[in-house]
Amino acid sequence: MGIAEWREQLKRGEVSARELTDHHLNRIAAVEPSINAYTEVTADRARADADRIDAARAAGEVLPPLAGVPLAIKDNLCTRGVRTTCSSRMLETFVPPYESTVTSRLWESGAVLLGKTNLDEFAMGSSTETSVFGPSRNPWNTDKVPGGSSGGSAAAVAAGECVGSLGSDTGGSIRQPAAFCGVVGLKPTYGRVSRYGLVAFASSLDQVGPFATNVADAAELLQVIAGEDPRDSTCLKAPVPDYRAALQQPVAGLKVGIVRECFEAEGLDPVVKASVMAAAHQLEALGCELVEVSCPRFNDGIATYYVIAPSEASANLARYDGVKYGYRASFADSGSVSLAEMTSRSRAEGFGDEVKRRILIGTYALSAGYVDAYYKKAQQVRTLIRRDFDRAFGAVDVLLTPTSPTTAFGFGAHSEDPLAMYLADLLTIPANMAGLPAISLPCGFDGAGLPIGVQLITGVLQEERLLQVAWHYEQAARVMEQRPEAAFVP
Ligand code: GLN
Repeated sequence: MGIAEWREQLKRGEVSARELTDHHLNRIAAVEPSINAYTEVTADRARADADRIDAARAAGEVLPPLAGVPLAIKDNLCTRGVRTTCSSRMLETFVPPYESTVTSRLWESGAVLLGKTNLDEFAMGSSTETSVFGPSRNPWNTDKVPGGSSGGSAAAVAAGECVGSLGSDTGGSIRQPAAFCGVVGLKPTYGRVSRYGLVAFASSLDQVGPFATNVADAAELLQVIAGEDPRDSTCLKAPVPDYRAALQQPVAGLKVGIVRECFEAEGLDPVVKASVMAAAHQLEALGCELVEVSCPRFNDGIATYYVIAPSEASANLARYDGVKYGYRASFADSGSVSLAEMTSRSRAEGFGDEVKRRILIGTYALSAGYVDAYYKKAQQVRTLIRRDFDRAFGAVDVLLTPTSPTTAFGFGAHSEDPLAMYLADLLTIPANMAGLPAISLPCGFDGAGLPIGVQLITGVLQEERLLQVAWHYEQAARVMEQRPEAAFVP
C-alpha cells in the first residue's frame, strides 16, 4: 500500500495509525536479528506518536500529509533526544540537543519515527561493513551487503520494516543501496533539501533524500523535506513544486540520453547492462526517444571525488577532538596528560580505519604545497564533469545509466581493497559532482535473483521531470511483479 492510499484509509477510519506502527514494530522484531538495519528502535515513542495521530483523527482534526506514516532515519541525521551515532565509536553515546530540519519537517507532517538506521561509519563506504554496530544484511540474500553508506535505510524499506526512510548521498549513498536492495532512492539537487542537522561528511556534496518502495512515495517524502531553510546557507530558495502532480504528466516525446561511457564502464556486469538497456527500451515504447550521448569526463569522477570528499571530511571531522563531545580516551593518570595526547588518543580510538584513511588523504591533499596539485585540480575536473552534463542536457531531457556496475556483492568481497570498494560508486558520483538530482529504481534481477537498479539523472531542480519519467517506467515495467523468491522481502 502506498502513502496516498494509506492516507485515505486512515481518513476513513479503516485502519489506525497505531495498527500500522505496530505492524512495522512486529516486523522489525521478527527480521532484525537477520537484517540489522536499525541502530536503535524507538518503539515507545513510535506508539505514542501513532496514538496521538489516532486521537487527532477521532477529534475530527485535519490530518497532515504524512499522518501516521512510520519512517526510519539514517543515523547521521540529528534527532533530538534520540542517539545519533553515525555508526561510529566516536559518537556512540551522542544524544543531540536539537533536531535536523528534514526530520522536524517529517514530524510536523505527522510521520512516526520507528528508529535510526545503520550506515558505514560517518557515511564512508558502500556496504555498511564499517559500522561499529556490525553490517546490515541484504533482505534479498543475507549473504550479500545491502550497499552503502545508507545500507540500513535501504534494507529497512526492502524488508518491510518501515514505509520509507531517509538517507544521505555524498557519492551515491542513497542510490547504490537502493539498487542493491530493490527499492527507490532519490538524491535531490544539491541545496534542494536542507543539510541542517545532517552530520557533515563532504559539505559541497552531501544531500539528504528519501527511500521508498515506489516512486510516488518517494515524491511524497521529498515534498515534505524539500525547501528553503535559513539554517543552511547552501539551501536553495526556489519554491517547491507539487511533485505528486508531476508524476502523471505524459512522457511521450521526451529525449532520454544513453550515456555511452557508463555502458562501457570498467567492471560493468553484462547482466546489469542488458537489464538497464531493456529499461531504456521500455521508455522508448512509452514514446520517449533514445539518444546516445557522450560524457567523457564521467570516468574521472571517482578520482576527483576521492580528493574532494576526503579533503572536506578531514576538515569536518576535525571537530571530534575529545573535548566538546563524543568519545574521549580514558587515562589512568589524567593529570599528566597533555591536550595533544588526549586528542590524539581519542581520535585514534574513536575512529575506524576507513575514516582514518579519509582523514589522512584529505589532510595530505589540503596541505601547503599540495593543495594546488590535488584539491584545486580536482575542483577544476569537477567543472569539466559539470560541463559534460551541461552539454548532454542541451540535447536530452534526462540521462539514463546503470546505478551500480554490479548487483550486491558478498561480505568481505572488497574489504581488503579500498579501490575496488570505491569503484562501486563509479556511476553515481558524477551527479554529486555536478549537484544534480538523480534517482535509482529497480529494473530487473540477475541470475541469482538480486535486484538491478537503473539510474535517471536530470538538470538542476528538475526533480519533477525525474520523478515523472521514473513513475512512468515503474508503471509500465512492473518489475516487482517478476521478482524471485527472497528471504526477507515481504
Ligand atoms: N561510497 C562513497 C564513499 O565511500 C559514497 C558515500 C556517500 O555517498 N556517503 O565515500
